[in-house]
Amino acid sequence: MMASARQKPGAAFFVLNCGVQDGPSSNIFRYRDGAGYDQDNMHYLFITQFGFELINTQKTKDFYRSDWDHTYNPTKRECPKGAMCMMCLIKQTDYSSYENIVVHISSEGCCGDSGGIAIQFLSDSVTEYIPLAKIVEAFSDTSCPGLKGKTRILIIQACRHSILKPEEANDDGVPFLYGNKYDASEDAGNTHNNPLVIPDDEEQHELLPPHEVPEDFLIVFSTTTNRYAKRNTKTGSWFETELRNAVDAFRQDPTKGPDMDFLTILTETSDRVAKKESRSQNPNEDGKKNVPCFEHRLTKQIIFRCLQRMQLLNCS
Ligand SMILES: [Zn+2]
Repeated sequence: MMASARQKPGAAFFVLNCGVQDGPSSNIFRYRDGAGYDQDNMHYLFITQFGFELINTQKTKDFYRSDWDHTYNPTKRECPKGAMCMMCLIKQTDYSSYENIVVHISSEGCCGDSGGIAIQFLSDSVTEYIPLAKIVEAFSDTSCPGLKGKTRILIIQACRHSILKPEEANDDGVPFLYGNKYDASEDAGNTHNNPLVIPDDEEQHELLPPHEVPEDFLIVFSTTTNRYAKRNTKTGSWFETELRNAVDAFRQDPTKGPDMDFLTILTETSDRVAKKESRSQNPNEDGKKNVPCFEHRLTKQIIFRCLQRMQLLNCS
């Protein structure tokens, strides 16, 4: 729904796990070349264009698990005021003036045997991750009663490859019969998958519960089950790049009205991403495809207005 005069369009939480080159975490969490653009693109869309407010202004990059949830800290020490973990910040935020919230997470990830998704966090010793189910739960009506009835958009940029179905990790696409084939040579840079990191397979079933999609949630995935998500080393992950391109195309189209239907834009984004092909020196990774998908239990439309388009249309 369109924000009313006294409400702001939304609150944003951004988490980018890019990794630190040559840092203590670099053996466990490999540096994701180009992933920094993912958050830049989301900042441009949700903050600059849609007018959301970023809530976690103190930290948006390179989260260890205890940065997300202080109970992962061995001492379990409560968060001091002014240096809250994300869970404390999510719980303590006053949502009364926001119409929607968006949560963007860009990291490594994988899919467990029960379909659950793991998001990897930085670590200096062993592979550490948080199930997506727990992240969804953090924004539930139970955890955050102030969010009840508000639309919650989660955008998950992470691989969903599975140790059980490695043959499905890459998408070869289908023979191309009509139209113009996408020319990957137009893209600068190489294509990377978010690297292969699989949690201990003995514990996967217990540790990777399938996520639910509660009422008023939209969960957007950069790729489908069991597959890699693709990232360009020079421009960032395909999904965020094409979402930005889709919004910019709308914004600059003089035939469009002021209101932008977000599900329509997501559908167009999927089409844009599906037309791309990977470019890699490794022949096994060259010419591969990536298709985003989304799941929702929305009860109302998601309509955004682009601030810079409104200036163009000279209305408010
Ligand atoms: Zn905390």
